[in-house]
Amino acid sequence: MAKSKKQFAIIGLGRFGSSVAKFLSEMGYEVLAIDSDPESVQDLANIVTHAVSADSTDEEAMKALGIRNFDVVVVAIGENIQASILTTLILKDLGVHKIIVKAQNELHGKVLNKIGADKVVFPERDMGLRVAHHLISPNIMEHIELSSDFSIVEMKAPSAMWGKDLRNLDIRAKYQCNVLAVKRNGEMNISFPADEKLLVNDVLVIVGRNEQLTRMEQAYA
Ligand code: ADP
Repeated sequence: MAKSKKQFAIIGLGRFGSSVAKFLSEMGYEVLAIDSDPESVQDLANIVTHAVSADSTDEEAMKALGIRNFDVVVVAIGENIQASILTTLILKDLGVHKIIVKAQNELHGKVLNKIGADKVVFPERDMGLRVAHHLISPNIMEHIELSSDFSIVEMKAPSAMWGKDLRNLDIRAKYQCNVLAVKRNGEMNISFPADEKLLVNDVLVIVGRNEQLTRMEQAYA
C-alpha cells in the first residue's frame, strides 16, 4: 500500500506562514492552518484543507485540534516571541514529532533550540545574507548555508573564467573551494571534466568555507 502523504500544521499565518501553507497545499498536501486572527484565517480558508482561528498558547485548544497527529508542525509566529516560545513548549509537551520554528533573532533561536525545536529557521537573516552576497558579487545566484562555517554557492561563470578550464583556474588550490557541478543549458553535470572550457552562460556550484568563498567571490567580482 502506498504510504499516505505527510500532514502539516502551520501556526501563524503572516507572510512566512501563509506562504509555507499555500505552497504545501499547492503541492497536494493536507494542511491545517491556524492563526489567532480570524481575518488571516479567512484569507487561507479556500486554499488549505482546514483553516481555524485558535490561540496556539492555549494547550487545550491545541489538544482539541489533534495537533499531535500531524507529522510536522511549523510555528511561524514572528513578532510575538513569547507566544512563539510558549507554543513550541506546548507542542513539545503534547508529543508533536517534528517542530519547525521561525526565529526572529539569534537569541530567540537559541531558546528554541534549548527547548527542543527540531529545526529553527531564520528567513529574514538568510534572505539578507543572500542579497548581501549578490551585492558583493552579482555573479552569485544562490547561497546556501550548510553550517556556520561552510556554504554552497551557485555562481555564474564570470568573464575571467570564459574559455578556461577548471584545471587551469585551480580554484581548489587558490581558494580551498571545490566545484561540485557545472550547470550548462539547464543541465547539471556533476562530473564536469577538468579540461573542458567554461562557456559564457555556465553556472558553477561551489562548496567551501565562508571566508574562502567570499575571497573568491570578491576576486571574480
Ligand atoms: P511574518 O513576519 O511572517 O509576516 P508575523 O509576526 O507578522 O509574521 O505574523 C505572525 C502571525 O502569527 C500573525 O498572523 C498573528 O496573528 C499570528 N499569531 C501571533 N500569536 C499567535 C498565537 N498565540 N496563536 C496563533 N497565532 C498567532
